[in-house]
Amino acid sequence: MAERKIPQRTCVCCRTTHDKRDLLRVVKTPEGTVQVDTTGKVNGRGCYLCKDPACAARVLKTKPLSKFLGVPVGEEVYEKLKEVLLG
Ligand SMILES: [Zn+2]
Repeated sequence: MAERKIPQRTCVCCRTTHDKRDLLRVVKTPEGTVQVDTTGKVNGRGCYLCKDPACAARVLKTKPLSKFLGVPVGEEVYEKLKEVLLG
């Protein structure tokens, strides 16, 4: 039987809860690199960001991801986020 309930995740920036499919996952891979996971299939420890433009702007301004992931997060990751979140 299909599971109908959609998993909920919390945006690490604004702490609001959304359906997992409405969030963007950012993953620290076992190799220690950081990837924006647009497929939901990248292996590793992830954190989630919502697609609210105000929240995205805050993420791009304050660049909080290294704190959440425990590794340095390069400018190219934020460039990718900008592309995915703000189009
Ligand atoms: Zn958010």
